[in-house]
Amino acid sequence: MRTTITPPTLCPSCGYRSDRAISTTPESPPLRPGDISVCVNCSCLNIFKDDLTLRKATEAEIVSMMEDDETRHILQQAQTFFRKRGLLQPKVVQH
Ligand SMILES: [Zn+2]
Repeated sequence: MRTTITPPTLCPSCGYRSDRAISTTPESPPLRPGDISVCVNCSCLNIFKDDLTLRKATEAEIVSMMEDDETRHILQQAQTFFRKRGLLQPKVVQH
């Protein structure tokens, strides 16, 4: 696994704060803008922006992710793991 330190960012769906990303495999290439992120708190799918903070994946992007068998398998494994484990923190209400 490769860990990349990112600027502090909040999950657009649940508000979970993160400052790093961990690759799904040891041989994964370095983190790049446009890469997919699975939130470790709520399991939603996000995309790294140019500054490596997160934005919510669009419906079209999610459809595209799910069309690729390998990507879909990896994402579903990560989401299943995080959902079974449960939330790390409750949803943050942002004003
Ligand atoms: Zn989240």
